[in-house]
Amino acid sequence: MRISFDLDDTLICYHAGARNEPSRVRWWLRPWIYEPLRLGAVGLLSELVKEHEIWVYTTSYRSPRTVAWWLWCYGARVGRVINQDRHERAFGRRGPSKNPGGFGIHLHVDDSWGVWAENRFDRNVCVVLPDDPDWADKVREAVACVARCKPPPLPPDVPEEYRSRGWV
Ligand SMILES: [Mg+2]
Repeated sequence: MRISFDLDDTLICYHAGARNEPSRVRWWLRPWIYEPLRLGAVGLLSELVKEHEIWVYTTSYRSPRTVAWWLWCYGARVGRVINQDRHERAFGRRGPSKNPGGFGIHLHVDDSWGVWAENRFDRNVCVVLPDDPDWADKVREAVACVARCKPPPLPPDVPEEYRSRGWV
């Protein structure tokens, strides 16, 4: 299965009280690779990478090579990093902000229910909130659902108006 992760507020959290993995970046790489990795990501990624292809899908313009090196420092090899440039090259500036299905991604992990809503017919987005300490287990659960051809669980924060529109 091909699984992609968002960066901001999913793998990289800067909010007050955010808990991060201890840095594994060698001191001489730190001028270039300095972003924190969310606590729980090392265990989760090292587990998933054994059976699945791990990608990153971000609307930021971070350099794909730097992102790949950053995760490599934590023992996770990523297949591909899609940043905003690569997304626009594939789909232009119109349409959904992220289109995991268009890249053959089976499950995308993001903090945004908006991304979930854009892709709701593909049922391939798992939403985990930045302050959720159990986020990694929720991703594991979503991976298990998609592996059984079931949709991942609903986002915890879909606004009531969308629930009442029958989106969920
Ligand atoms: Mg995000």
